[in-house]
Amino acid sequence: MSTNRTTTRRGAQLALAAAITATVALTAPVSQAAPAAAEKPSPGAPGLGDPMFPLDGNGGYRVERYYLDFDWQAPKTPFEATTTIKARSTQALSRFNLDFGGNTLHKVTVNGSAAGTSREGDELTVTPKSPIGKGSSFTVEVTYTADPTQTRHRDDAIEDYGWIPTPDGTVVYPQPNGSRLIFPGNDHPSQRAPITFRITTPADRTAVANGRLVSRTARPDGRVRWTYDSEQPLSTQLVQLAVGKFQLVDSEGPGGIPLRDVVPDALVEPTAAYRKLTPDHLKWLQERLGPYPFNRYGLLVGDTDLGVALETQTLSLVPKADLLGTKVDAERNMVHELTHQWFGDSVALKGWSDLWLSEGHARFYEREYSEQHGGDSFEAAMKTAYQNHDIWRRDYGAPAEPTEPNLFKRMRYDGSALVLYALREQVGDATFQKIERAWVSGLKGRTASTQQFVDLASKVAGEDLEGFLHPWLYGSKTPPMPGHPDWVVDPAV
Ligand SMILES: [Zn+2]
Repeated sequence: MSTNRTTTRRGAQLALAAAITATVALTAPVSQAAPAAAEKPSPGAPGLGDPMFPLDGNGGYRVERYYLDFDWQAPKTPFEATTTIKARSTQALSRFNLDFGGNTLHKVTVNGSAAGTSREGDELTVTPKSPIGKGSSFTVEVTYTADPTQTRHRDDAIEDYGWIPTPDGTVVYPQPNGSRLIFPGNDHPSQRAPITFRITTPADRTAVANGRLVSRTARPDGRVRWTYDSEQPLSTQLVQLAVGKFQLVDSEGPGGIPLRDVVPDALVEPTAAYRKLTPDHLKWLQERLGPYPFNRYGLLVGDTDLGVALETQTLSLVPKADLLGTKVDAERNMVHELTHQWFGDSVALKGWSDLWLSEGHARFYEREYSEQHGGDSFEAAMKTAYQNHDIWRRDYGAPAEPTEPNLFKRMRYDGSALVLYALREQVGDATFQKIERAWVSGLKGRTASTQQFVDLASKVAGEDLEGFLHPWLYGSKTPPMPGHPDWVVDPAV
C-alpha cells in the first residue's frame, strides 16, 4: 500500500517538474537554451577499486532499487529467476558491468531492448542497444536460472558462503561478496539500495527476506507468492532470503519494535528460551547506542550445520547450534549480530579495510554484555588480545590494514575491539559513549570510513586523536595500553 502511494506522489512530482521545465523552455530566450556538448559515452568501470576486491561494485551508475523474482522449487533444484535493476547513470555509458557469478544467464535487456552480454569471472558486461546518457535513469532486466547449491569458501571466520541448502529449503550467506551468486548487482558494501523480493514457493513452504512482508498471495497453480520490501537500503552482503517449513513467531521489543523470529517447525520450542531474550538485548544496546536504527528485527534460525551467524539486515541468521548450547554462548552471538544492525548495517562500510569498525564494535558490545551476564571478563579478554596484538599484526595485518585472505581473521574481532577498548581508556567512558552515539546517529543509513571515525572521535572528544588512533589502526607495533602500563605484548619474531 505505501509503495503505491509513494509511486503516485512521485509521479505527480515528476509531472509537475516536467510542466515547470516546459514553461521555462517556452519563456527562456533561445540564445540561453543551447545545451552543453553531450559527454561521449564510455564503458563504466568494472569495479570500484577496493584494495581487497578491486572488481567488486561497478562504476558509471548507481542502483536505485533491485526487484528480485525467484521461482523457488526445492533445496537443490535450479529455478527461474529475474533481477530487475532501476539505476541512474553517473556518466554517459557505452556499456556497464554487473557482479554476477555462476548460474545460467538467459537474457539481459536495457530499457526493454535486448542487450549484448559477455561474462568473464564474476564480471557480466552489458552493452545496451544504444548508449545511456549521463544522469539518465534506466532499467536492466536479467533473466537466469539460479543454482541454489552454489557456495564458495574462505579460510577465515566466514567459511562457506553463498546459497546454503537446508533439509527443506534454503538460507543465504552473502558476506563478503557472495550475493553475486544469488543475483546480479553492485556487490560492494558501500553500494546500498532498497530491494523488493518476490519469491514464489510451494504452498507448504514459507519465504522470508529482509524488511517487511508486504503480501502473501495464493496463485491459481497452488503456489504462493511472497513479497517483501527491505524498507531501508541495504548492502548486498546483508541480503537475506530464506525458504523453509517455518513458523513466524511474533513479539514486541522495547517501545513496540516489531520482532519476528523465523524458526523451522521442530526448533520453535527448543530455541524459545534464548530467542525471548532479544528484547533484553535491544534494551541494553539502546541504553548505550540510542534508538534501534530499523523498523523491525528478528532471528532467522538456520537449520544447517553452518557454524557462523550473520547480521543480515533486520533479520539476523543464527545457526541452530548457537541457540541449542549454553546461554552465555547464545547471548554472545545474539548480541553480536544485533550490535551489527547499528555498526555495519545502518552505518555501512565504505570499503573492506573498514571492516574493523563493524566487527570490532560487534565484539566490543558482545563482550561487555557477556561479562555483565555470566560470561568471561571483558578486561581479561582484552589483555589476552593485547598480548597477541603484534603477532596478529604480522599474521593478519593491523586492524585497519587487512589483506584479502586475512580479512575475517581474529584481528578484525578481538583485535579491533581492543582498539575501541584503548580509545575508551584514553578518553573515558562518558566521552567514549558520546563518540559512539554521534557515530550511529550522525551516520545512520550512510556509509562511513575509518578516517571519518577518527575525525568524529577527535571532534567529540575535543582533542586530536589522530596521533593516538593511527598507531593502533595501522603499522606493525602495538602502542602502550592507556591505564594498563603492566600489559605486555608478545614479540612477533
Ligand atoms: Zn560480526
